[in-house]
Amino acid sequence: MNDSGSDVYFGSIQHGIPARFASLAAKVDEIVKLLDFSTIDKKDKVAIKMHLGFRDGYQTVPVFFVRRIVEAVKEQGAFPFVTDNPTSVYNAVYRGYTQETCGCPIIPVSGVKDGYTYRKKTDTHGVKSMDLAGALYDADVLIDLTHVKGHNSCGYGGAIKNIALGGYAAQTRWKKYHTVYKSIPYWHPDKCIPEHAKKLVESCPLKCISYDEKKHELDIVFDRCNQCMECMKADKGVGCIEIRQEHFSAFQELMAVGAKHVLDTFDKDKVFFINFLIEITALCDCWGFGQPCVVHDIGVLGSRDIVATEQASLDLIAKQGLIEEMIPPYLKSLVFRQEGLHPFAQLHGPMKDPYIVVDYAQRLGLGTRQYNLIEVLSPDETAKMEQPKGVSEGEPSFF
Ligand code: SF4
Repeated sequence: MNDSGSDVYFGSIQHGIPARFASLAAKVDEIVKLLDFSTIDKKDKVAIKMHLGFRDGYQTVPVFFVRRIVEAVKEQGAFPFVTDNPTSVYNAVYRGYTQETCGCPIIPVSGVKDGYTYRKKTDTHGVKSMDLAGALYDADVLIDLTHVKGHNSCGYGGAIKNIALGGYAAQTRWKKYHTVYKSIPYWHPDKCIPEHAKKLVESCPLKCISYDEKKHELDIVFDRCNQCMECMKADKGVGCIEIRQEHFSAFQELMAVGAKHVLDTFDKDKVFFINFLIEITALCDCWGFGQPCVVHDIGVLGSRDIVATEQASLDLIAKQGLIEEMIPPYLKSLVFRQEGLHPFAQLHGPMKDPYIVVDYAQRLGLGTRQYNLIEVLSPDETAKMEQPKGVSEGEPSFF
């Protein structure tokens, strides 16, 4: 990092010439070279943390690129392994990830029964501890290899989310992250009668509100809420519910804390961040199905600074904007058409501003939001290069 920020290398999906040396694969290789894997020592155990997807979801980082990164790690004499949650690892073969295709073992991040973890103490919105995945804890090097996309809980799924949720056992992900909003009061039972609670349930177009009449308990699932405020209109004059920024920021704050615990287990010169901004969907890979891409493919980013990587990724997505005709119909009528709002906040609501987590991460000292974007093999540069002649079938040729 220098005065103007951290270096972030960028390879655009766009190319200036129809040639392999100008394509995204060549740019990934160049970025890996610039990231400088020489700080990886011989025999280091290198965790390549990815989201390997679930079920029918195929929009993860293509194994084609994973293999190239694995080979670059092996060139250092180190031992790479791809890792993710046990479920994703177990059925990764259905999405093309195997030891043979990746070129290295694929290991469940928290053991075969999701119980190989190290407890980390914390104190964030009532969360007192988090179970950090053992395979990350044991590794010498982290390559945080991320498919960038939207996320219904926090607006954005990037490098921070890949380790902040993906670096923990399911118990921490589902019972701590996804319920952290409950630490901030949002319903006042004494002001609410059952008939009014039922009216609130009916008011929500996204079915986020549920009510148990026997227990007189109302729940709002903030993970799915896009802050349309229909429930607040229905609550006018009663005032028994609240939808506030804090209910959404809590998740992002916990993500920054979770990411810090993971990164604290590594030396500073042994962490690398590579974000793929391709197949950018509205929802996370964990939904387990293919989705329309709501932002055009942008390319790949690489840095040694997680905050700078995330800030640059979000800025490039903001510049690109949403592809109107690709917004799924179930989101279309709910999109916030507000100037200056990030595309992911337009999809998931203004209180799910994806920059919030980046800001928390910076405040925790994980990096800087200032960055120098350094483009490699830009279309302008490669357009000036000589085009290869008549190469359509490479060696070895069976023609
Ligand atoms: S603000 Fe959220 S909980 Fe309320 S109606 Fe809209 S989506 Fe549902």
